[in-house]
Amino acid sequence: MKKIAVLTSGGDAPGMNAAIRAVVRTSHTRGLEVLGIRRGYTGMMDKDVTILGPRDVANTIQRGGTILLTARSHRFRSPEGRAIAAQNLREWGVEGLVVIGGDGSFHGAHYLQTEQNIPVIGLPGTIDNDLYGTDYTIGYDTAVMTALDAIDKLRDTGASHERIFVVEVMGRHAGHIALDVAVAGGAEEVLIPEDPLAIEQVVASVKSGLERGKSSSIVVVAEGVEGGAEAVRKAIVEATGLEARTTILGHIQRGGSPSARDRVLASRLGEAAVNALIDRVSGVMCGLVNNNVTFTALPDTWEKRKDVNRDLYNCAKTLSI
Ligand code: ATP
Repeated sequence: MKKIAVLTSGGDAPGMNAAIRAVVRTSHTRGLEVLGIRRGYTGMMDKDVTILGPRDVANTIQRGGTILLTARSHRFRSPEGRAIAAQNLREWGVEGLVVIGGDGSFHGAHYLQTEQNIPVIGLPGTIDNDLYGTDYTIGYDTAVMTALDAIDKLRDTGASHERIFVVEVMGRHAGHIALDVAVAGGAEEVLIPEDPLAIEQVVASVKSGLERGKSSSIVVVAEGVEGGAEAVRKAIVEATGLEARTTILGHIQRGGSPSARDRVLASRLGEAAVNALIDRVSGVMCGLVNNNVTFTALPDTWEKRKDVNRDLYNCAKTLSI
């Protein structure tokens, strides 16, 4: 093997640069050339590429976002689009591909492998932590820290004004961020898509908290919960007659300098991905389970469900008395 390619795709996540850096530097050490594909699958079809050497990734480990840029491509969802992309890879002499992204990006990588016989390895790069086969995804830890920082600040103002804050955090299909943030931020209530408590139950819990002497409340809602934070706020206002505010944290959770954990995770997985390609392993995601590098067949990463930690869920409830 002489040349591999790397790309980032789908939503950006802090730590993607650390993963690119690890792929580039491990490849250099092992005598491989690396082609960086810009704008994900779009760049693969449009020939938007650049050679990456060890110095090109200097000073990137601490930077959020992705130096290779990212995109979502409709064209790549068709076999015709993927045939063009694979033809380009062959023209460039690419013998293996590292895809850093979420489950959508992994679907694309899987098809590239099965239809076009391109060896691929996926690296879990998404803040949602919703991929089976890794305890944590690259970017998740940083996103939790960012959301927690915002909640700590909201609690200051909530406590001073004796007000209820309903905070929406990211997580379209998964409540991982919401749960961690709720426990770490001492939230009074948490709603996740996996376990949508009836809003009435949450309202009742907020009300009973006020009766027990709580002067302010933080309610964390994952964006995937029907109606989002605003529906919860309205129900609370109707039931209590008190003022409540909604804060949607949104895209700030995607940005920022990656945490130490995300940098270490990305570095380990990037190194392991290159070594795996050299060993002719492909069609898998490289993840970390119990602090050991593991490989999971790409379809399993989206077909098998990574449930939220139920103990954590119960812990959030127990500690919010
Ligand atoms: P995130 O979880 O952060 O949103 P993601 O990788 O899941 O990241 P998507 O937008 O779902 O983000 O997917 C990224 C790209 O992967 C899509 O724009 C598309 O080009 C490709 N892709 C997604 N699903 C498929 C599919 N079923 N078949 C082929 N390609 C796909």
